[in-house]
Amino acid sequence: AAKDLGKGQARLYHRDLSTKMLDRLAQRSDLERGLAADEFLVHYQPIVSIETGRIAGCEALVRWEHPERGLVSPYEFIPLAEETGLIVALGRLVFDKACAQMHAWLEAGYCGLRLSVNVSARELHEKHYLEDVRTALRKHSIPPTILVLELTESIFALNDPTISSQLSALREAGIKIAMDDFGTGYSSLSYLQKFQLDVLKVDKSFVDGLGVDDLDAGALVSAIITLGHSLRLEVVAEGIERVDQRDELAAMGCGLGQGYLYSRPVTADRMSDLLAAGLSLDPIEAGRGVG
Ligand code: C2E
Ligand code: MG
Ligand code: MG
Ligand code: MG
Repeated sequence: AAKDLGKGQARLYHRDLSTKMLDRLAQRSDLERGLAADEFLVHYQPIVSIETGRIAGCEALVRWEHPERGLVSPYEFIPLAEETGLIVALGRLVFDKACAQMHAWLEAGYCGLRLSVNVSARELHEKHYLEDVRTALRKHSIPPTILVLELTESIFALNDPTISSQLSALREAGIKIAMDDFGTGYSSLSYLQKFQLDVLKVDKSFVDGLGVDDLDAGALVSAIITLGHSLRLEVVAEGIERVDQRDELAAMGCGLGQGYLYSRPVTADRMSDLLAAGLSLDPIEAGRGVG
């Protein structure tokens, strides 16, 4: 009886596996279809000077406008796009759309804005990555110095010579490199020494603990900000949702922030409205707290 049970389980397991593989295949072809049908669009989230509330730039975040599923989060399709290599085409598309939009904002007179774009390891492995980026920048008349490429910590962990030479070449071209989700990886500190960076993005999980009497979270964030500054990096705090978190970050000297407190990621049109409204979101009022 025990033998029969084992056999049954094995069969069940195989059926599970092949269902999963079929699911994967279906998802892959759906992603290919979506790319061909131009269903991907870019939303923008302001990155704000914590002190003044002024919009310093924005991060481009991809969305999939799926005909049946509605607006799909990148968490649901970026991993598959990375596994299948479709991220290369998707990344190009996002980059081109974001540059075209940035060009329109520069033309409208919003100068000094930075554009942040997320990049996957797979894209950096493309031989012509730097050339493709420069071509797109030229096409839309975007100076390389306003571009920030955000790489998650896990990319640095790969310890891959192709990636480190790619990063040096990008920086030589005037492009800035940000380490995204800082603090969530295994040995973030050693990457800070190994790679030339420009921006450190403090992960939301640390910011979450601020302003709620979590002394350890405060100590950690404060240490990360100090560390970033002593390495001459710009520090951006991610995921600021409340005024108390913002105030604590300001007291710690954190220059830039991003989060629902200021704005969720929004459509390009809505972002244009935010820019037109005077470039200031939730500033820390001068003299507040005095008297
Ligand atoms: P990320 O680069 O760390 O982007 C920040 C994520 O946090 C975004 O999620 C944003 O909507 C969310 N967020 C910002 N402020 C807050 C807040 O105050 N509270 C909360 N709860 N969330 C906040 P999103 O847009 O879903 O993107 C998820 C991730 O997908 C990104 O994380 C990034 O790693 C990846 N991603 C997005 N667009 C692209 C892309 O074009 N290419 C690549 N390779 N990855 C992308
Ligand atoms: Mg990012
Ligand atoms: Mg991030
Ligand atoms: Mg993140």
